[in-house]
Formats: sequence, structure tokens, C-alpha cells
Amino acid sequence: MNDAVTPSGLTNLLGFDLEGLAAYCEQLGEKRFRATQLFRWIHQKGASDFAQMSDLAKSLRDKLATRAYIQALPVISEQASADGTIKWLFDVGQGNAVEAVFIPEDDRGTLCVSSQAGCAVGCRFCSTGHQGFSRNLETWEILAQLWFAEHHLRVRLNTPDRVISNVVMMGMGEPLQNYAALVPALKVMLDDHGYGLSRRRVTVSTSGVVPMMDRLREDCPVAMAVSLHAPSDPLRDQLVPLNKKYPIAELLAACNRYLDAAPRDFITFEYCMLDQVNDTPEQAEELVRLLKGKVPCKLNLIPFNPFPASGLKRSPRERVQAFAEVLIRAGIVTTVRKTRGDDIDAACGQLAGEVQDRTRAHLRMVRPVVVVKNAADRSAEGADSVPGQPTT
Ligand code: SF4
Repeated sequence: MNDAVTPSGLTNLLGFDLEGLAAYCEQLGEKRFRATQLFRWIHQKGASDFAQMSDLAKSLRDKLATRAYIQALPVISEQASADGTIKWLFDVGQGNAVEAVFIPEDDRGTLCVSSQAGCAVGCRFCSTGHQGFSRNLETWEILAQLWFAEHHLRVRLNTPDRVISNVVMMGMGEPLQNYAALVPALKVMLDDHGYGLSRRRVTVSTSGVVPMMDRLREDCPVAMAVSLHAPSDPLRDQLVPLNKKYPIAELLAACNRYLDAAPRDFITFEYCMLDQVNDTPEQAEELVRLLKGKVPCKLNLIPFNPFPASGLKRSPRERVQAFAEVLIRAGIVTTVRKTRGDDIDAACGQLAGEVQDRTRAHLRMVRPVVVVKNAADRSAEGADSVPGQPTT
């Protein structure tokens, strides 16, 4: 479904996957194959003016010009990091803005895309989570980030070739809580007439919305990253509140089911390294016991990017290294993510556009932060008693 119909009745064609565009063309009395031509003009060539579309009949171009349009989101700002990372802030109306980040590397160009204005999950270490939630993005608003970035970068880098080789749904929002808009957007990314990305190069990152992981496996299985961040339920309940609904055992079972259809034979677990919270050697051992032989996986350790409201600190480099070594010794493939775009607040967990919070989450999150003392202190206080823990 394409919700991008303006009050004037014009439809933004960025909101259609190929099937949807074919149905739209039929409504206009056109043959379905016209949709493929139109779709290529939009996504492969970045055209926004129907007059440019020289292989479409003039009668169709005229019809489209009176009923449809192709338009990106207004760019509020662009920031470029010294390391080549570029962050855009897009206006999505009514005081909300979302961010997308381009991360160039030698062998790839990755775009990190937002799926919601804000996020209702409320992870403790995440800037977006602290802002609360306003609304889901529509399909066209998700795709507009990719459409703009790809074609803007081609002009900027003066290349006719594809610039974005990978998309990660790791910007603002929990993509699986915006499922209906997400799936058509993924289909456009994968479509050979669209961006032609392989399923391995499109990653959905989730905090663990178990039923929707199962649906994605059926509808559009792309690579999967799961925000784990803790080796046990009591700690994960505090860091990723969704864990209370879908605890770790259910999440890992869903990961294994997902792998039956996934384009990669492993799940990537993201683990944000928080000083004195989830980064001790004992917790690394606990993580090994949790995962080894249970879920084919890779661990991605992410140095936390502190922001004042979180009250949390980044783990020292040596502790991250020691944590990684425990996992590697146990045979779990583990990487430590290089932080990119630090100087423009574009690194992981730092994205925070503008959110008119409708959930009051930003108020609920003003509360004592999670603090884990050393193991001896913890056992003296009871195994899972965490001083200063949130009350909800
Ligand atoms: S980490 Fe992801 S799921 Fe958690 S609050 Fe941030 S955007 Fe939402």
C-alpha cells in the first residue's frame, strides 16, 4: 500500500514496490510492463521529472504529471565527518526529523536508514530511545532516504556507478515495529529493477520482536542483526525493555528459526559495551554459555557512544579487548566495531533527529541508570539485584 497521497491527490511513486507500481499503472489503464520502465527510471536513474522518461509514451507521461510525483524528503542539514561518513537530517513533518548515515569503506558503501520517528522500545544506551516515539515512517519515507543518498552521492562523486552497496536498517526506530511499511521498502532494495542489492547486503536490525522475525522469514528474509547487549534476562530487561515481553530464550529460538531461510548462515548479535554494566569477564563467560553451540552467530562488540542523558560510560578499550578474547577463545567469531562519524554524532546509538514524543518515554527514562558492581558485590546483594535499577 502506498500512503504517500497528498491532500491534492497526487501520489508519491517512491512508496511503491514493483508489484504496487504495476497495480497503480493498471489503475491508470496502462499495461503492467510500463511499471518496470517507470520503476527503473525512478530507482536506477534517480529521475524525478516524468518528461525525462523518454521511453514512456507521451500520453502516460502527461497522465503521470497530473496524478503523481517523485520527491525526496526535505534535507534539514548535512554533516560530513573527517572519516568520510556523511549524516543527513530529513524533515518528516510536524516537528519530526530522522537521520540517515552513509559510511564509505574500501570495499563497500553502507547506508544506515531510519524506520520510525523516534522509537518506542526505549533502550537505555540509545539516543533515539531517550527521545521517545512519534510515528512510523511510511514506505516512501524509508525509501526516500536511499533514493536521495544514492543519487546525490553519484552526482557528488561524479560516478555513474552504484555508490550504496549495503543497507542496514539500523537508524532511528525498531524496523520490525513498522513491518507493513518496511517489507515493500526491502523489496525495492532487492529488486533487480530497483537497487538490485543481494539479500546478504540488506540487514534488518531488531531488538527482538519475535513474532515479526518469524513473519520476515516468510515474507522477505534478509540478513538479520539482533541487539543483544546482555547475557542474562535480568540485565537485558533493563537495557532492552522489550526483553520482558520476548525473553532471551524465545529470542534465540526465533533466531534459529530465522536461519532456516536467512541469506547468511549466522545471526549477528550486537553488543554495546557499557562500562561496569555488561563488560566483565564473568559476563563474557556467561555469554559464551548462552550462545556457544546454541545459535550460529557472530558477535559485534560496539564501543558505547556516551550521551549525557544516558548516565552510562564507554567500556575502556582493554576491557573490550579482554571481553572479545574470552569469546574468541571459545570459538565465537567476534569483531569490535570501528566507530565511524564520531565527530558528527553519527556513530551507532547516537542518531537522534527531532521527535515530538507522543509516548512520554523521554520522561520515563529520566531515572537512575543501570549500575553493575563487581561480581562479589553483586552476590552479596543477591544474584540479580542491581543497585539503582529502573523501577519499570
Ligand atoms: S537501540 Fe534500536 S530498538 Fe533500542 S531504542 Fe534505539 S532505535 Fe529503538
